[in-house]
Amino acid sequence: MEIEKGHICQNCIHFRQHYVKWGEDLYWPCGSGHCVYPRCKPRYNDTKACQYYVPKDYAP
Ligand code: SF4
Repeated sequence: MEIEKGHICQNCIHFRQHYVKWGEDLYWPCGSGHCVYPRCKPRYNDTKACQYYVPKDYAP
C-alpha cells in the first residue's frame, strides 16, 4: 500500500490504543499505543505510517 500524507499509526488496523483508567470505570485514550505487526512495538498515535500500513476502513 502506498503511504500518503496524513497516514498515521492510529488509523492503521495494526495499531492498539492504550488507555488511562479514570475513576471506577472510565477509560480515556492516551496519545500512544502499540503496533502488533510484524512484531510488537510501541508507537504514538501520530507516528508516521510505515510500509505495513493498512487503513482501518480498508476493504479488499
Ligand atoms: S508501525 Fe506500521 S503497521 Fe504498525 S501501526 Fe504503524 S503504520 Fe501500522
